[in-house]
Amino acid sequence: MNRRDFLKGAAVGTASILSPSILKVEASDTAKSAIKSYREIGTTGLKMSDISFGGGQLTSSAMILRAVDKGINYFDTAPDYGESENTIGEAMSKLPREKIIIASKFCNPLKYPAHLKAGTPVKDYIAAVDASLTRLKTNYLDFCFVHAIGEMNQDVNAETARLLDKNMLIAVDELKAQKKIKYLATSSHGPHNMEELLTRAIDSGHYAMVMGSYNFMDFPKLPEVMKHAKSKGVGFIAMKTMAGAKKVGIETDGLTFSNAAFKWVLKHEEVSGLIVTIKNVKELEEYVQASGQAFTSSDREVLERYAANYSSSYCRTGCDQCEGYCAKGVEVGAALRYHMYFRDYGLEKRAIESYATLLVNAKECGDCDDPKCAAGCPFGVRVKHMLSCAHRDLTVNIG
Ligand code: SF4
Ligand code: SF4
Repeated sequence: MNRRDFLKGAAVGTASILSPSILKVEASDTAKSAIKSYREIGTTGLKMSDISFGGGQLTSSAMILRAVDKGINYFDTAPDYGESENTIGEAMSKLPREKIIIASKFCNPLKYPAHLKAGTPVKDYIAAVDASLTRLKTNYLDFCFVHAIGEMNQDVNAETARLLDKNMLIAVDELKAQKKIKYLATSSHGPHNMEELLTRAIDSGHYAMVMGSYNFMDFPKLPEVMKHAKSKGVGFIAMKTMAGAKKVGIETDGLTFSNAAFKWVLKHEEVSGLIVTIKNVKELEEYVQASGQAFTSSDREVLERYAANYSSSYCRTGCDQCEGYCAKGVEVGAALRYHMYFRDYGLEKRAIESYATLLVNAKECGDCDDPKCAAGCPFGVRVKHMLSCAHRDLTVNIG
């Protein structure tokens, strides 16, 4: 399905969106930077724009309207993403709801991470979705996620209990019967057991789609998970596709790093689409240019240059290969992901708050001389140095 097909039948909704006071996009730019490809999400019958909208930093409803005008039709949000759900709700009266796919999460509207725990009463799962629907000003979610499995707990069985929580599954049946959600989904950016947990979700038969961290930097086990998902009719959405999103000095000959990174992800047919945080119009215009485009040798050069510059300063999101190396139990993957949010994503507040929830942070890394630390990362990440920087940046405001 191309953008014209997507917009067809939604003329009323898009006509109101195309208010000149909101949109001032030149015709030639519009043609160049617009979604050109939609892909099936497993066997749900839903098709998503290959480049889709991650709403983690959403504060402007006009950005939603602009994104829809560009052909984006999938929006990822959560109760613990600040004003994200309310902002989508502000735009809702102007959106062609039946043409939009909205995904939210089983979470409370508190500081991230506020995921509902295993054993949460059925009525609280249902109340969480009702509250999301109120904020979003809609009467259904297309997908409701069990959010970020493997983030807070190293125990694969404890996190599996969250994936397969009996109360949650009862709530899902009730919510489906009430037509308040269409499908159950789950996400993981690790750092603990990402591939194992996504596989368990796929095999459970309860999940219509899974979302994982995936990019051109060393994810050796994930392609098997993606193939497995496809064989079971489960959709796979990729996130964290820009491998840390450090863009300095990478663009060349009119090619942008973001476009090369997106095209690399999308060349895998198992991928239903990707979500990316879109903070402003410039990023929107840039990102959608990768839609429907083939990955080229020039793109490969851009990615190789990025890898040469940043491989040792990018802790692979979702990786846990150094787990257990630190005798003090520092949560390496989580600490470095939160620092990535702080330094590269501009999510300072959320990063500091999330870092404060770690049971063992990087306080002691500065004075540590354990030689095993440097050897623990097969990708040559400068673990001790980066953890020391993370602790310095992420504790500065909380005393
Ligand atoms: S430091 Fe290296 S081994 Fe440890 S989680 Fe990051 S990328 Fe993986
Ligand atoms: S520097 Fe020392 S305390 Fe910090 S993660 Fe490495 S081994 Fe653990």
